[in-house]
Amino acid sequence: MYHLDQPLQPGDSLRLDFDLLYRTKGFKNGNANIDIVQNGTFFTNQYFPGIGYSEQYELSSDDKRKDNGLKPKERMRAQNDPAGVRQNVFGDDADQIRFAMTISTTPDQTAIAPGYLQKEWLKTGPDGKKRRYFSYQMDSPIADFYSIVSARYLVKKEVYTGKAGNPISLEIYYHPGHPHNLDRMMRGMKASLAYYQANYGAFQHRQLRIMEFPRYRSYAQSFANTIPFGEDMGFVADIDDKQDIDMPFFVTAHETAHQWWGHQVTEANVRGSAMLSESLAEYSALMVMKHQYPQERMQEFLRYELDYYLRGRQSETKKEQPLSQCEGQQYIHYNKGAHVLYALQDQIGEDKLNQALRAYRDRWNVARVAQTGIYPTAADLTSELQAVTPDSLRGLLDDWVNAITLYELKTDKVTVTPVGKQYDVQVTVSAEKVRADSLGNETKRPINEWIWIGVYAPKAKGSDSEKLLYYQRHHITKPKQFIIVRVNQKPDRAGIDPMNLLIDRHPKDNIKAIEMP
Ligand SMILES: [Zn+2]
Repeated sequence: MYHLDQPLQPGDSLRLDFDLLYRTKGFKNGNANIDIVQNGTFFTNQYFPGIGYSEQYELSSDDKRKDNGLKPKERMRAQNDPAGVRQNVFGDDADQIRFAMTISTTPDQTAIAPGYLQKEWLKTGPDGKKRRYFSYQMDSPIADFYSIVSARYLVKKEVYTGKAGNPISLEIYYHPGHPHNLDRMMRGMKASLAYYQANYGAFQHRQLRIMEFPRYRSYAQSFANTIPFGEDMGFVADIDDKQDIDMPFFVTAHETAHQWWGHQVTEANVRGSAMLSESLAEYSALMVMKHQYPQERMQEFLRYELDYYLRGRQSETKKEQPLSQCEGQQYIHYNKGAHVLYALQDQIGEDKLNQALRAYRDRWNVARVAQTGIYPTAADLTSELQAVTPDSLRGLLDDWVNAITLYELKTDKVTVTPVGKQYDVQVTVSAEKVRADSLGNETKRPINEWIWIGVYAPKAKGSDSEKLLYYQRHHITKPKQFIIVRVNQKPDRAGIDPMNLLIDRHPKDNIKAIEMP
């Protein structure tokens, strides 16, 4: 740790030079460094010296802290913590930075950092070996969070000009032999840019790049105009469009959304922060999917989010938090977050919800934060959501965002009666709603929601695709309810909440095959 003799004054600057060497000697038996590798290096500025104290290296598990005579530690700062709202999730080293970087690598590799390539050249080093240099510069301030990748890449490029008219260069840097899903990812970038620019506002860069990294690590991550993307997050997936979720497309949509949620608007480093980045990115990706797939198939995506949430809360080790108070819990900020925001747009309307996100982005973008020094919290997003939610649905918003609310929806019985050329479908459903506290204690709540009732046609021979004959909301106010609907075609199955829009602990029993009388 270094201290300055003279404290820095506001507006002062100081130059910091440092050398850092990472060298693998032989090979390790385990836990090898997988960031810096022969072909496919990917690391972030966490490798570089930081300014001030970094809490992230403190012991976090209660047990380990106890062994060391330490008190248990909260996972995150309170949402209104005055120091927390003055720093963003990328740390308290800096707000926004001006970014330029020169990187060298072996002559057969391409090295990439955020910003735009200014120059590229070869130079022989003191050891007599040639190295290839790349110089990048960004033309606007970015978060103090950046990536460096280097690999032997091929590149696929396209120029996208959307309705907004601004040309954006789309580039995918990939490992030779992994071209399988490039079109899916290209389409993912285009569909995302189209939806986000139309609904949230302009993309802030003129280039968006995806770079493959090896499957030692399974994730993708969004940096300014730059998305390092794991080999097995999309590049080598074998997608059967009839059955599978198009993960390369979906992950591309999620990461592209972070250019808005995380980069255009950067959240305060307090409880609930990930609702502003991960929930919004995952919600945005679901919305892009919504416009790519027939309505019936959205059930698969919602079910995916729901299952991950339900599984996650089973294995929670500390305490489950409401979405607006989440503490780095993936099952909440990704899965529940996306799920309830999707359900909310289903209730209040897609345009309304996106109008709230646009207002949130306009009010809290990094240029505005630069003037106030205060970063947004989940409460700021929630108040934008409240503003577009009619009074009659504000209770739901509160249930889903500020509390832990679970449903138990079930279809008990379905019968059908032919009426001329039509059919009457009689559905008996049961519905229950509970609120859980962080420790899992549950209290029943009265149910008073408009929930979808759906009737499906039989599947066509040799086809897996579902078709809804009837899909309407019904007012569900009682634990048991009897509903009759009329359809024009012989039905096959029917039930309550067929799309799995609500957080239902047993989503499998929503739909039942029809008993013929
Ligand atoms: Zn994300």
